[in-house]
Amino acid sequence: GERAAVALTISTVLFEDQKNGFIITFHDISREQELEEMKLDFVSMAAHELRTPLTAIRGYASLLQMQNAKALDAPGKELIKRLVVSSENLGNLIENLLSVSRIERSIFSVDARPVDLVTTVRGVIDNVRQQAYTKKQTITLLLPDGLPVVMADAFRIGQVLLNLVANAVNYTQEGGSITVKAEEKEGFLHISVTDTGRGIPKEAMPKLFTKFFRVSGVLEQGSKGTGLGLYISKSIIEMHKGKIWVESEGVGKGSTFIFALPIAKPEEIAAYQKARVDL
Ligand code: ADP
Repeated sequence: GERAAVALTISTVLFEDQKNGFIITFHDISREQELEEMKLDFVSMAAHELRTPLTAIRGYASLLQMQNAKALDAPGKELIKRLVVSSENLGNLIENLLSVSRIERSIFSVDARPVDLVTTVRGVIDNVRQQAYTKKQTITLLLPDGLPVVMADAFRIGQVLLNLVANAVNYTQEGGSITVKAEEKEGFLHISVTDTGRGIPKEAMPKLFTKFFRVSGVLEQGSKGTGLGLYISKSIIEMHKGKIWVESEGVGKGSTFIFALPIAKPEEIAAYQKARVDL
């Protein structure tokens, strides 16, 4: 009466009497699954435990920065700035690890409702404007009037777009340009982020949206990512029954990341509104 996870392998064999047969192996993988669960438990527990002290570190670092804005000399200011930036990076890493463990346990939730994503898109651009300005990059936003409503979790879609735009800023040289565009195409809302940056090598394309993947060489170039952003983005877009992909002519030729979300059908909007009234 017990349940067990089994990996099944079937191979054909040719016997001596020239008859075909099969060898079927049933491999009990319960132990492997248990270990996988333990790994997820450990990652999520460790990430949770790190959150609280880190919140204190981030808080005090910001306070230190504000209170000493005038008193410190340039090197002192630089040290505190590094402290703030590093603790923010660590915070992002922890949140990403928590998201990955929720995705893998299928408890990552999206709360889809009819939304016009214009405010979300503008908010994301405002978030990265300062960073792009520091790198002398231009950001162009192409948002036509009357964009269709989609069934989406605006907060999660904002996370995806922020990841794509932050990547575009990070992986594009000083003085480059970034274009964010939204358009309606064949029943979908397409949102694309195009940059004039380093582009994606052909051999990296198939692995780009997998966990912890980073194009080789980015570490040496001093970039500090985790390789989790695109994996999480892909999971979020798929939870919305959408698609995400990349187009790039190759190294040095920039890249375009696009995601497409299905446009909300009138009956979906009506059903959502009815459910709210019923509540
Ligand atoms: P991270 O940026 O934290 O490393 P991501 O999952 O967001 O993680 O991206 C994975 C990898 O894909 C990056 O490390 C980088 O090598 C490559 N990449 C992502 N976006 C771009 C881009 N716009 N231009 C060039 N390379 C990119």
